[in-house]
Amino acid sequence: MESDGVSDAALADLGAGFDGALILPEDPGYDDARTVFNAAIDRRPAVIAQCAGPPDIARAIRFGREHGLEIAVRGGGHSVAGMAITEGGIVIDLRRMNSVSVDPAARTARAGGGTTMGDFDRATQPYALACTGGRVSTTGLAGLTLGGGSGWLERTFGLTCDNLLSVTLVTADGSTLRAAEDENPELFWALHGGGGNFGVVTEFTFRLHPVSTITFALLLWEPAAGFDVGRAYRDFMATAPDEVGGGFLFCTAPPEDFVPESLVGHLACGVLLTYVGGEEAAREVFRPMLELGHACAEMAELPYADFQCALDDPPGFRNYWSAEYLDAVPDEVLKRFCERADQMITPSPSQLYLLPQGGAVSRGRADYPVPWRTASWVVHPYGMWSDATDDERGRRWVQETRAELRPWSTGAVYLNFIGHEGQERVVAGFGRANYERLAAVKRQYDPENVFHLNHNVRPQ
Ligand code: FAD
Repeated sequence: MESDGVSDAALADLGAGFDGALILPEDPGYDDARTVFNAAIDRRPAVIAQCAGPPDIARAIRFGREHGLEIAVRGGGHSVAGMAITEGGIVIDLRRMNSVSVDPAARTARAGGGTTMGDFDRATQPYALACTGGRVSTTGLAGLTLGGGSGWLERTFGLTCDNLLSVTLVTADGSTLRAAEDENPELFWALHGGGGNFGVVTEFTFRLHPVSTITFALLLWEPAAGFDVGRAYRDFMATAPDEVGGGFLFCTAPPEDFVPESLVGHLACGVLLTYVGGEEAAREVFRPMLELGHACAEMAELPYADFQCALDDPPGFRNYWSAEYLDAVPDEVLKRFCERADQMITPSPSQLYLLPQGGAVSRGRADYPVPWRTASWVVHPYGMWSDATDDERGRRWVQETRAELRPWSTGAVYLNFIGHEGQERVVAGFGRANYERLAAVKRQYDPENVFHLNHNVRPQ
Protein backbone atom coordinates (compact mmCIF):
# COMPACT_ATOMS: atom_id res chain seq x y z
CA MET A 1 0.00 0.00 0.00
CA GLU A 2 1.20 3.49 -0.80
CA SER A 3 3.10 5.11 2.07
CA ASP A 4 3.12 8.90 2.49
CA GLY A 5 3.61 9.76 -1.15
CA VAL A 6 5.90 6.86 -2.02
CA SER A 7 4.19 4.69 -4.63
CA ASP A 8 3.41 1.01 -4.25
CA ALA A 9 5.59 0.30 -7.24
CA ALA A 10 8.56 2.07 -5.67
CA LEU A 11 8.07 0.23 -2.37
CA ALA A 12 7.77 -3.07 -4.22
CA ASP A 13 11.00 -2.27 -5.98
CA LEU A 14 12.73 -1.55 -2.66
CA GLY A 15 11.30 -4.76 -1.18
CA ALA A 16 12.47 -6.99 -4.04
CA GLY A 17 15.66 -8.66 -2.90
CA PHE A 18 15.63 -6.83 0.43
CA ASP A 19 16.89 -9.36 2.99
CA GLY A 20 15.59 -7.60 6.10
CA ALA A 21 12.06 -6.27 6.58
CA LEU A 22 10.24 -3.14 5.46
CA ILE A 23 7.74 -1.78 7.93
CA LEU A 24 5.06 0.64 6.76
CA PRO A 25 2.57 2.75 8.76
CA GLU A 26 -0.25 0.26 8.25
CA ASP A 27 1.81 -2.71 9.47
CA PRO A 28 1.03 -4.10 12.95
CA GLY A 29 4.63 -3.72 14.19
CA TYR A 30 4.91 -0.09 13.04
CA ASP A 31 4.35 1.64 16.39
CA ASP A 32 6.85 -0.60 18.16
CA ALA A 33 9.37 -0.12 15.37
CA ARG A 34 9.18 3.69 15.49
CA THR A 35 9.43 3.96 19.29
CA VAL A 36 12.69 5.34 20.64
CA PHE A 37 13.96 5.59 24.21
CA ASN A 38 12.74 9.16 24.73
CA ALA A 39 8.95 8.94 24.96
CA ALA A 40 8.65 12.66 24.15
CA ILE A 41 9.65 11.83 20.56
CA ASP A 42 6.67 10.83 18.44
CA ARG A 43 7.56 10.75 14.74
CA ARG A 44 6.01 8.77 11.90
CA PRO A 45 8.44 7.68 9.20
CA ALA A 46 7.12 6.68 5.77
CA VAL A 47 9.24 3.49 5.78
CA ILE A 48 11.29 1.68 8.39
CA ALA A 49 13.91 -0.43 6.64
CA GLN A 50 15.15 -3.05 9.07
CA CYS A 51 18.34 -3.94 7.26
CA ALA A 52 20.05 -7.32 7.35
CA GLY A 53 23.36 -6.29 5.83
CA PRO A 54 25.29 -3.74 3.76
CA PRO A 55 23.35 -4.41 0.50
CA ASP A 56 20.05 -3.58 2.27
CA ILE A 57 21.61 -0.41 3.66
CA ALA A 58 22.88 0.68 0.25
CA ARG A 59 19.42 0.05 -1.23
CA ALA A 60 17.70 2.02 1.50
CA ILE A 61 20.07 4.96 1.10
CA ARG A 62 19.54 4.98 -2.65
CA PHE A 63 15.77 4.74 -2.20
CA GLY A 64 15.70 7.61 0.29
CA ARG A 65 17.78 9.81 -1.98
CA GLU A 66 15.81 8.99 -5.14
CA HIS A 67 12.48 9.75 -3.47
CA GLY A 68 13.61 12.83 -1.57
CA LEU A 69 13.01 11.14 1.80
CA GLU A 70 14.93 12.30 4.86
CA ILE A 71 17.21 9.47 6.04
CA ALA A 72 17.51 8.54 9.71
CA VAL A 73 19.92 5.90 10.97
CA ARG A 74 18.97 3.90 14.03
CA GLY A 75 21.35 1.99 16.27
CA GLY A 76 20.02 1.67 19.81
CA GLY A 77 17.53 4.57 19.54
CA HIS A 78 18.95 6.27 22.65
CA SER A 79 19.66 9.73 21.27
CA VAL A 80 17.78 12.10 23.57
CA ALA A 81 16.84 14.31 20.62
CA GLY A 82 15.41 11.31 18.76
CA MET A 83 17.98 11.50 15.99
CA ALA A 84 17.26 7.88 15.05
CA ILE A 85 13.79 8.68 13.77
CA THR A 86 12.36 10.96 11.05
CA GLU A 87 8.96 12.46 10.36
CA GLY A 88 7.86 11.18 6.94
CA GLY A 89 11.28 9.89 5.86
CA ILE A 90 13.03 6.51 5.84
CA VAL A 91 14.66 4.92 8.87
CA ILE A 92 17.65 2.67 8.30
CA ASP A 93 17.16 0.47 11.32
CA LEU A 94 20.19 -1.66 12.18
CA ARG A 95 18.83 -3.64 15.11
CA ARG A 96 18.94 -6.92 13.18
CA MET A 97 22.67 -6.43 12.68
CA ASN A 98 23.68 -7.12 16.26
CA SER A 99 26.00 -10.10 16.11
CA VAL A 100 29.25 -9.99 18.08
CA SER A 101 32.22 -12.30 17.57
CA VAL A 102 35.14 -12.42 19.96
CA ASP A 103 38.70 -13.45 19.22
CA PRO A 104 39.98 -14.20 22.72
CA ALA A 105 43.57 -14.81 21.61
CA ALA A 106 43.82 -11.47 19.82
CA ARG A 107 41.65 -9.80 22.48
CA THR A 108 39.41 -8.21 19.88
CA ALA A 109 35.69 -8.22 19.14
CA ARG A 110 33.73 -7.48 15.98
CA ALA A 111 30.24 -6.10 16.47
CA GLY A 112 27.43 -5.23 14.07
CA GLY A 113 26.17 -1.67 13.68
CA GLY A 114 22.93 -2.41 15.56
CA THR A 115 24.53 -4.04 18.59
CA THR A 116 23.45 -2.85 22.02
CA MET A 117 25.89 -2.58 24.91
CA GLY A 118 24.16 -5.60 26.47
CA ASP A 119 24.71 -7.71 23.32
CA PHE A 120 28.36 -6.73 23.35
CA ASP A 121 29.07 -7.22 27.06
CA ARG A 122 27.31 -10.60 27.15
CA ALA A 123 29.45 -11.78 24.23
CA THR A 124 32.79 -10.72 25.74
CA GLN A 125 32.04 -11.71 29.38
CA PRO A 126 32.60 -15.50 28.92
CA TYR A 127 36.20 -14.69 27.93
CA ALA A 128 36.69 -12.35 30.92
CA LEU A 129 37.25 -9.54 28.44
CA ALA A 130 35.54 -6.17 28.08
CA CYS A 131 35.77 -2.76 26.50
CA THR A 132 34.60 0.56 27.92
CA GLY A 133 30.89 0.87 27.17
CA GLY A 134 27.99 3.02 28.30
CA ARG A 135 26.53 2.79 31.78
CA VAL A 136 23.39 0.89 30.74
CA SER A 137 22.88 -2.20 28.60
CA THR A 138 20.24 -0.89 26.21
CA THR A 139 22.31 1.91 24.63
CA GLY A 140 23.42 1.31 21.05
CA LEU A 141 27.10 0.61 20.64
CA ALA A 142 27.17 2.58 17.37
CA GLY A 143 25.82 5.94 18.50
CA LEU A 144 27.80 5.65 21.71
CA THR A 145 31.13 4.82 20.06
CA LEU A 146 30.81 7.29 17.21
CA GLY A 147 30.26 10.09 19.73
CA GLY A 148 33.17 9.00 21.95
CA GLY A 149 31.77 6.51 24.48
CA SER A 150 31.95 7.08 28.21
CA GLY A 151 31.41 4.48 30.94
CA TRP A 152 32.54 2.92 34.21
CA LEU A 153 35.72 1.48 32.68
CA GLU A 154 36.89 4.68 31.01
CA ARG A 155 39.39 5.79 33.64
CA THR A 156 41.11 2.41 33.23
CA PHE A 157 40.82 1.74 29.49
CA GLY A 158 39.94 5.09 27.91
CA LEU A 159 36.85 6.08 25.96
CA THR A 160 35.11 3.48 23.79
CA CYS A 161 36.44 5.18 20.64
CA ASP A 162 40.01 4.94 21.99
CA ASN A 163 39.62 1.16 21.63
CA LEU A 164 38.43 1.18 18.03
CA LEU A 165 40.59 -0.83 15.64
CA SER A 166 38.51 -0.56 12.48
CA VAL A 167 35.10 0.46 11.18
CA THR A 168 33.19 -0.70 8.09
CA LEU A 169 30.53 1.65 6.79
CA VAL A 170 28.22 2.29 3.86
CA THR A 171 28.62 5.84 2.64
CA ALA A 172 26.09 8.21 1.06
CA ASP A 173 26.81 6.92 -2.47
CA GLY A 174 26.20 3.32 -1.37
CA SER A 175 29.84 2.21 -1.32
CA THR A 176 31.18 0.03 1.47
CA LEU A 177 34.44 1.28 2.95
CA ARG A 178 36.76 0.17 5.70
CA ALA A 179 38.49 2.72 7.88
CA ALA A 180 41.45 1.97 10.14
CA GLU A 181 44.81 3.56 10.98
CA ASP A 182 46.21 2.23 7.69
CA GLU A 183 43.10 2.54 5.50
CA ASN A 184 41.18 5.78 4.96
CA PRO A 185 42.97 7.19 8.05
CA GLU A 186 41.32 10.63 7.91
CA LEU A 187 37.87 9.01 7.90
CA PHE A 188 39.00 6.77 10.76
CA TRP A 189 40.07 9.84 12.72
CA ALA A 190 36.64 11.44 12.10
CA LEU A 191 34.88 8.35 13.48
CA HIS A 192 36.47 9.01 16.89
CA GLY A 193 33.80 11.42 18.08
CA GLY A 194 32.41 12.78 14.81
CA GLY A 195 29.15 10.82 15.17
CA GLY A 196 27.02 9.37 12.38
CA ASN A 197 27.97 12.10 9.89
CA PHE A 198 30.00 9.98 7.50
CA GLY A 199 27.97 6.88 6.74
CA VAL A 200 26.11 3.92 8.19
CA VAL A 201 28.42 1.73 10.25
CA THR A 202 27.87 -1.95 9.60
CA GLU A 203 30.68 -3.30 11.77
CA PHE A 204 33.19 -2.17 14.39
CA THR A 205 36.30 -3.97 15.63
CA PHE A 206 37.40 -3.18 19.18
CA ARG A 207 40.39 -3.90 21.37
CA LEU A 208 39.35 -5.77 24.55
CA HIS A 209 40.89 -5.79 28.02
CA PRO A 210 40.96 -8.39 30.76
CA VAL A 211 37.93 -7.70 32.99
CA SER A 212 36.06 -10.42 34.79
CA THR A 213 34.22 -8.81 37.67
CA ILE A 214 33.52 -5.32 38.85
CA THR A 215 32.91 -4.38 42.47
CA PHE A 216 30.46 -1.62 43.20
CA ALA A 217 29.25 0.20 46.29
CA LEU A 218 26.17 2.40 46.24
CA LEU A 219 26.02 4.63 49.31
CA LEU A 220 22.97 6.79 50.03
CA TRP A 221 22.33 9.71 52.37
CA GLU A 222 19.57 12.18 53.15
CA PRO A 223 19.91 15.06 50.65
CA ALA A 224 20.95 17.50 53.40
CA ALA A 225 24.27 15.63 53.64
CA GLY A 226 24.95 16.40 49.96
CA PHE A 227 27.51 19.17 50.31
CA ASP A 228 29.70 17.31 52.84
CA VAL A 229 29.45 14.03 50.93
CA GLY A 230 30.26 15.82 47.67
CA ARG A 231 33.39 17.38 49.18
CA ALA A 232 34.54 14.05 50.55
CA TYR A 233 33.95 12.39 47.18
CA ARG A 234 35.76 15.15 45.27
CA ASP A 235 38.78 14.83 47.58
CA PHE A 236 38.66 11.02 47.41
CA MET A 237 38.70 11.05 43.61
CA ALA A 238 41.71 13.39 43.53
CA THR A 239 43.97 10.45 44.44
CA ALA A 240 41.80 7.46 43.48
CA PRO A 241 43.46 4.86 41.23
CA ASP A 242 42.37 4.60 37.60
CA GLU A 243 40.41 1.42 38.38
CA VAL A 244 37.87 3.51 40.29
CA GLY A 245 34.87 4.93 38.46
CA GLY A 246 31.40 6.00 39.51
CA GLY A 247 29.95 9.36 40.46
CA PHE A 248 28.28 11.63 42.98
CA LEU A 249 24.55 11.98 42.38
CA PHE A 250 21.11 12.98 43.50
CA CYS A 251 18.22 10.67 42.65
CA THR A 252 14.92 9.37 43.95
CA ALA A 253 15.81 6.61 46.44
CA PRO A 254 14.74 3.29 44.90
CA PRO A 255 12.44 0.75 46.58
CA GLU A 256 15.27 -1.71 47.24
CA ASP A 257 15.69 -3.88 50.34
CA PHE A 258 18.77 -2.00 51.50
CA VAL A 259 17.02 1.42 51.43
CA PRO A 260 15.16 2.47 54.60
CA GLU A 261 11.46 3.06 54.05
CA SER A 262 11.79 6.68 55.16
CA LEU A 263 14.07 7.38 52.18
CA VAL A 264 12.26 5.36 49.47
CA GLY A 265 10.58 7.62 46.91
CA HIS A 266 12.31 10.76 48.21
CA LEU A 267 15.28 12.74 47.02
CA ALA A 268 18.53 11.15 48.17
CA CYS A 269 22.16 11.93 47.66
CA GLY A 270 24.45 9.10 46.68
CA VAL A 271 27.92 8.00 45.75
CA LEU A 272 28.40 5.15 43.33
CA LEU A 273 31.85 3.60 43.48
CA THR A 274 33.01 1.09 40.91
CA TYR A 275 36.27 -0.82 40.93
CA VAL A 276 37.70 -2.96 38.14
CA GLY A 277 38.58 -5.96 40.30
CA GLY A 278 37.55 -8.00 43.33
CA GLU A 279 35.75 -6.99 46.52
CA GLU A 280 38.67 -7.35 48.91
CA ALA A 281 40.84 -4.89 47.00
CA ALA A 282 37.83 -2.62 46.40
CA ARG A 283 37.03 -2.39 50.12
CA GLU A 284 40.53 -1.15 50.79
CA VAL A 285 40.38 1.42 47.99
CA PHE A 286 36.83 2.58 48.88
CA ARG A 287 37.63 2.81 52.64
CA PRO A 288 37.56 6.63 52.98
CA MET A 289 34.09 6.72 51.43
CA LEU A 290 32.78 3.63 53.24
CA GLU A 291 33.80 5.17 56.57
CA LEU A 292 31.84 8.38 55.98
CA GLY A 293 28.78 7.04 57.76
CA HIS A 294 26.05 6.62 55.09
CA ALA A 295 22.32 6.15 55.67
CA CYS A 296 22.38 2.87 53.74
CA ALA A 297 24.62 0.99 51.35
CA GLU A 298 24.84 -1.93 49.01
CA MET A 299 28.10 -3.48 47.88
CA ALA A 300 28.79 -6.49 45.70
CA GLU A 301 31.22 -8.01 43.22
CA LEU A 302 29.45 -8.93 39.98
CA PRO A 303 30.38 -10.23 36.54
CA TYR A 304 30.94 -7.07 34.51
CA ALA A 305 28.06 -7.81 32.07
CA ASP A 306 25.65 -8.25 35.01
CA PHE A 307 26.70 -4.98 36.58
CA GLN A 308 26.23 -3.25 33.21
CA CYS A 309 22.51 -4.01 33.22
CA ALA A 310 21.99 -3.48 36.95
CA LEU A 311 21.36 0.24 36.55
CA ASP A 312 19.32 0.24 33.33
CA ASP A 313 17.13 3.32 33.09
CA PRO A 314 13.48 2.48 32.46
CA PRO A 315 12.06 3.07 28.96
CA GLY A 316 8.84 4.97 28.35
CA PHE A 317 9.78 8.23 30.10
CA ARG A 318 10.09 11.69 28.63
CA ASN A 319 13.75 12.73 28.58
CA TYR A 320 15.73 15.94 28.48
CA TRP A 321 19.41 16.15 29.44
CA SER A 322 22.41 18.36 29.15
CA ALA A 323 25.98 18.59 30.42
CA GLU A 324 28.79 20.95 31.32
CA TYR A 325 32.45 19.97 31.63
CA LEU A 326 34.57 21.42 34.43
CA ASP A 327 38.28 21.49 35.19
CA ALA A 328 37.69 21.66 38.95
CA VAL A 329 34.86 21.52 41.47
CA PRO A 330 35.38 24.31 44.00
CA ASP A 331 33.06 24.45 47.03
CA GLU A 332 30.92 27.09 45.34
CA VAL A 333 30.19 24.69 42.46
CA LEU A 334 29.31 21.91 44.88
CA LYS A 335 27.01 24.21 46.81
CA ARG A 336 25.14 25.24 43.66
CA PHE A 337 25.07 21.66 42.38
CA CYS A 338 23.42 20.47 45.61
CA GLU A 339 20.94 23.36 45.58
CA ARG A 340 19.88 22.46 42.05
CA ALA A 341 19.00 18.94 43.18
CA ASP A 342 16.09 20.38 45.16
CA GLN A 343 14.42 21.46 41.92
CA MET A 344 14.58 18.00 40.33
CA ILE A 345 11.23 16.28 39.68
CA THR A 346 10.78 13.65 42.39
CA PRO A 347 9.78 10.94 42.54
CA SER A 348 11.07 10.20 39.04
CA PRO A 349 14.03 8.42 37.42
CA SER A 350 15.73 11.85 36.99
CA GLN A 351 19.29 12.11 38.22
CA LEU A 352 21.79 14.86 38.75
CA TYR A 353 25.30 13.52 38.21
CA LEU A 354 28.76 14.76 38.95
CA LEU A 355 30.98 12.31 37.10
CA PRO A 356 34.76 12.13 37.38
CA GLN A 357 36.93 11.88 34.29
CA GLY A 358 40.74 11.75 34.45
CA GLY A 359 42.80 8.56 34.29
CA ALA A 360 42.99 6.99 30.85
CA VAL A 361 40.31 9.39 29.51
CA SER A 362 42.62 12.36 29.89
CA ARG A 363 45.66 10.43 28.60
CA GLY A 364 43.98 9.44 25.31
CA ARG A 365 44.92 10.90 21.95
CA ALA A 366 44.59 14.66 22.14
CA ASP A 367 43.85 15.12 18.44
CA TYR A 368 40.56 13.18 18.35
CA PRO A 369 37.46 15.40 18.03
CA VAL A 370 36.51 14.90 21.69
CA PRO A 371 38.11 17.96 23.34
CA TRP A 372 36.00 17.49 26.49
CA ARG A 373 38.18 14.52 27.44
CA THR A 374 40.70 16.70 29.29
CA ALA A 375 38.11 18.09 31.76
CA SER A 376 38.21 16.56 35.25
CA TRP A 377 34.48 16.57 35.97
CA VAL A 378 31.13 16.39 34.19
CA VAL A 379 27.90 17.89 35.49
CA HIS A 380 25.09 15.90 33.86
CA PRO A 381 21.50 16.87 34.72
CA TYR A 382 19.45 13.97 33.45
CA GLY A 383 15.74 14.74 33.43
CA MET A 384 13.19 11.90 33.09
CA TRP A 385 9.51 12.19 33.86
CA SER A 386 6.30 10.52 32.78
CA ASP A 387 3.73 13.26 32.34
CA ALA A 388 3.78 15.66 29.37
CA THR A 389 2.47 18.41 31.65
CA ASP A 390 5.88 18.28 33.40
CA ASP A 391 7.77 18.97 30.14
CA GLU A 392 8.32 22.64 30.82
CA ARG A 393 9.37 22.10 34.43
CA GLY A 394 11.69 19.22 33.59
CA ARG A 395 13.43 21.09 30.79
CA ARG A 396 13.71 24.25 32.84
CA TRP A 397 15.45 22.31 35.62
CA VAL A 398 18.05 20.97 33.19
CA GLN A 399 18.60 24.34 31.48
CA GLU A 400 18.85 26.28 34.74
CA THR A 401 21.25 23.75 36.23
CA ARG A 402 23.46 24.16 33.20
CA ALA A 403 23.23 27.94 33.35
CA GLU A 404 24.09 27.93 37.05
CA LEU A 405 27.34 26.01 36.50
CA ARG A 406 28.26 27.51 33.15
CA PRO A 407 30.71 30.06 34.64
CA TRP A 408 32.99 27.15 35.62
CA SER A 409 32.59 25.20 32.37
CA THR A 410 35.45 24.53 29.97
CA GLY A 411 32.93 25.12 27.15
CA ALA A 412 33.62 21.75 25.49
CA VAL A 413 30.81 19.22 25.73
CA TYR A 414 30.26 15.54 24.99
CA LEU A 415 27.49 15.69 22.39
CA ASN A 416 26.06 12.29 23.32
CA PHE A 417 25.03 13.81 26.65
CA ILE A 418 22.94 16.60 25.11
CA GLY A 419 20.04 17.05 22.69
CA HIS A 420 19.63 19.82 20.11
CA GLU A 421 21.23 22.90 21.64
CA GLY A 422 22.16 24.77 18.47
CA GLN A 423 25.10 24.71 16.06
CA GLU A 424 27.40 26.64 18.44
CA ARG A 425 27.20 23.77 20.89
CA VAL A 426 27.94 21.28 18.11
CA VAL A 427 31.09 23.21 17.24
CA ALA A 428 31.96 23.35 20.96
CA GLY A 429 31.51 19.59 21.14
CA PHE A 430 34.18 18.99 18.54
CA GLY A 431 36.32 22.08 19.04
CA ARG A 432 36.55 24.72 16.27
CA ALA A 433 39.67 23.35 14.54
CA ASN A 434 38.36 19.79 14.68
CA TYR A 435 35.02 20.96 13.30
CA GLU A 436 36.75 22.40 10.23
CA ARG A 437 38.71 19.17 9.78
CA LEU A 438 35.53 17.09 10.16
CA ALA A 439 33.78 19.31 7.59
CA ALA A 440 36.53 18.47 5.09
CA VAL A 441 35.94 14.74 5.70
CA LYS A 442 32.20 15.34 5.36
CA ARG A 443 32.72 17.05 2.00
CA GLN A 444 34.60 13.98 0.80
CA TYR A 445 32.17 11.29 2.01
CA ASP A 446 28.78 13.03 2.28
CA PRO A 447 28.90 16.29 0.32
CA GLU A 448 25.09 16.56 0.14
CA ASN A 449 24.61 16.02 3.88
CA VAL A 450 22.45 12.95 3.39
CA PHE A 451 23.27 11.97 6.99
CA HIS A 452 22.15 15.06 8.88
CA LEU A 453 20.02 13.64 11.69
CA ASN A 454 22.92 13.84 14.11
CA HIS A 455 25.06 16.50 15.76
CA ASN A 456 25.60 17.76 12.29
CA VAL A 457 28.88 18.61 10.65
CA ARG A 458 27.87 20.73 7.70
CA PRO A 459 29.82 20.08 4.52
CA GLN A 460 29.84 23.78 3.56
P1 FAD B 1 20.50 6.26 18.17
O1 FAD B 1 19.46 7.22 18.64
O2 FAD B 1 20.08 5.06 17.45
O3 FAD B 1 21.60 7.01 17.33
C1 FAD B 1 22.27 8.13 17.81
C2 FAD B 1 23.02 8.80 16.64
O4 FAD B 1 23.97 7.88 16.12
C3 FAD B 1 22.09 9.18 15.51
O5 FAD B 1 22.56 10.35 14.90
C4 FAD B 1 22.21 7.99 14.60
O6 FAD B 1 21.90 8.31 13.28
C5 FAD B 1 23.66 7.59 14.76
N1 FAD B 1 23.86 6.16 14.54
C6 FAD B 1 23.33 5.15 15.24
N2 FAD B 1 23.74 3.98 14.75
C7 FAD B 1 24.55 4.26 13.72
C8 FAD B 1 25.29 3.47 12.81
N3 FAD B 1 25.30 2.14 12.87
N4 FAD B 1 26.01 4.10 11.86
C9 FAD B 1 26.05 5.45 11.79
N5 FAD B 1 25.36 6.24 12.62
C10 FAD B 1 24.63 5.65 13.58
N6 FAD B 1 26.47 7.73 26.54
C11 FAD B 1 27.68 7.44 27.05
O7 FAD B 1 28.70 7.73 26.45
N7 FAD B 1 27.78 6.85 28.27
C12 FAD B 1 26.73 6.49 28.99
O8 FAD B 1 26.88 5.95 30.08
C13 FAD B 1 25.44 6.73 28.46
N8 FAD B 1 24.33 6.34 29.13
C14 FAD B 1 23.11 6.50 28.54
C15 FAD B 1 21.98 5.99 29.18
C16 FAD B 1 20.74 6.12 28.61
C17 FAD B 1 19.53 5.54 29.29
C18 FAD B 1 20.61 6.77 27.36
C19 FAD B 1 19.26 6.92 26.75
C20 FAD B 1 21.72 7.27 26.72
C21 FAD B 1 22.98 7.16 27.30
N9 FAD B 1 24.13 7.65 26.68
C22 FAD B 1 25.35 7.38 27.21
C23 FAD B 1 24.05 8.47 25.49
C24 FAD B 1 24.27 7.65 24.26
O9 FAD B 1 25.63 7.38 24.06
C25 FAD B 1 23.79 8.43 23.04
O10 FAD B 1 22.43 8.71 23.17
C26 FAD B 1 24.06 7.65 21.76
O11 FAD B 1 23.88 8.48 20.66
C27 FAD B 1 23.15 6.46 21.67
O12 FAD B 1 23.45 5.68 20.57
P2 FAD B 1 22.29 4.78 19.96
O13 FAD B 1 22.87 4.00 18.84
O14 FAD B 1 21.58 4.06 21.04
O15 FAD B 1 21.30 5.90 19.50
